[in-house]
Amino acid sequence: MLRSTKIVATLGPASSDPVVLERMMRAGVDVVRLNFSHGTAEDHLRRAEMVKEIGRKVGRTVAIMCDLQGPKIRVGRFANGKTVLQKGKHFILDAACELGNDERVGLDYPDLPRDVAEGAVLLLDDGRIMLEVTSVRGDEVHTVVRHGGVLSNNKGINKQGGGLTAPALTAKDMEDIRTAVKTDADYLAVSFPKSGADMYMARELMRAAGGKAFLIAKIERAEAVEPKILMDIMNGSDGIMVARGDLAVEVGDAAVPALQKRMIRMAREANKLTITATQMLESMVASPVPTRAEVSDVANAVLDGTDAVMLSAESASGMYPVEAIMAMDRICIQAEQSQPLSLDQDFLNRVFTRVDQSIAMGALFTAFHLKIKAIAALTESGSTALWMSRLNCGVPIYALTTQTSTRFRCALLRDTYPLAVKYVGHDREELLQEAENVLVSNGLVKDGDLIVLTIGEPIGKAGGTNTMKIVRVGEHRKK
Ligand code: PGA
Ligand code: MN
Repeated sequence: MLRSTKIVATLGPASSDPVVLERMMRAGVDVVRLNFSHGTAEDHLRRAEMVKEIGRKVGRTVAIMCDLQGPKIRVGRFANGKTVLQKGKHFILDAACELGNDERVGLDYPDLPRDVAEGAVLLLDDGRIMLEVTSVRGDEVHTVVRHGGVLSNNKGINKQGGGLTAPALTAKDMEDIRTAVKTDADYLAVSFPKSGADMYMARELMRAAGGKAFLIAKIERAEAVEPKILMDIMNGSDGIMVARGDLAVEVGDAAVPALQKRMIRMAREANKLTITATQMLESMVASPVPTRAEVSDVANAVLDGTDAVMLSAESASGMYPVEAIMAMDRICIQAEQSQPLSLDQDFLNRVFTRVDQSIAMGALFTAFHLKIKAIAALTESGSTALWMSRLNCGVPIYALTTQTSTRFRCALLRDTYPLAVKYVGHDREELLQEAENVLVSNGLVKDGDLIVLTIGEPIGKAGGTNTMKIVRVGEHRKK
């Protein structure tokens, strides 16, 4: 059973054992996420090697996504490792403080006093603790505790409503971009971008380091969901992540479900990828089965049209990384089967002016109406497969490519299954025959099935897709 929606699994201590990683990859991981908020460059390079090795062993195209830490603001350390904040009491955030105590704690962001004023609400530790700013005195931010609790070393801080001016790329991120390129990353995720310029800068740095990964913008700032800014960020990216963890803290948890739907719709219309992330199967960190609510969450993300669903702690540090992937796999498949197919209005309203894009849309329309078994897109850059996969026509799209980097970058596309072709000649019929053979030998189609092929002619010359052919499998061979 083919699964249309892709699974991203974050790696960590729970998935460091090659035996476990192999089981995870066999269970259906499409993309692994290397989280640069943790671990050293060596750790990430080692993990990337392991993923490639096991990918070859199990014969699956499993891509690598490097996720930059970004300007996540954190409190410093405490002399005792933590403090207990009591409702109504005062507490000071002070960048100059070395070791925290019950009265104050340090910060890794000295600009905080400039970014907040009396009345601002700061949320710590993913929103578990709430502080309200009473005054800013020099470099000290004085607050009163609204929701108390235990605050331990290095917990994150968000400002409700957004408005922190920290730049999206820190010095560490710039260094990590070079490491990401060394891992041969297929995707690079940028944390907390607040403009298209942030993404542009990340792309420039990546290119300068010799990388050509797809860029994913993590939408997790209040500013970033403002439609114009979101569009600007999307234009500078190949895809977005609905980063619900930080986003919920900044915009309020109740705003996130509607934002998720809007962002996925917007991204698909703009020919961009989407990953829905954070706490999807959170209880599986400690339980072999998900809650009913989590099952619904994953299924609803599928119905929203996300390209991929993501596991964070579940696969990085939880007790059941393999079970979490198996759960996502079965939830996605069943949600996809329940989904009514419709191309109509959405399809007819699309505007496209490029020749290659027109062929992609034509193939999609044809496949939808002719009861086609498979679409075979012979693609160099992956663009044809991307366009086709932005609309669900209910027919699997096989992205056939001679380019290894394209094959891996197609791993995240919904409904799309990347396959390698070896043909490098100039003969059109030979190429089409090889494409058919690849599908047949992988057991994806059989004699008598109708398939749609798209190619760029003349073969072997650079240039976009301009040709579509409808073929009955095996017909050529019989003659
Ligand atoms: P993170 O990003 O896991 O790197 O924080 C995802 C999110 O904020 O949801
Ligand atoms: Mn985040």
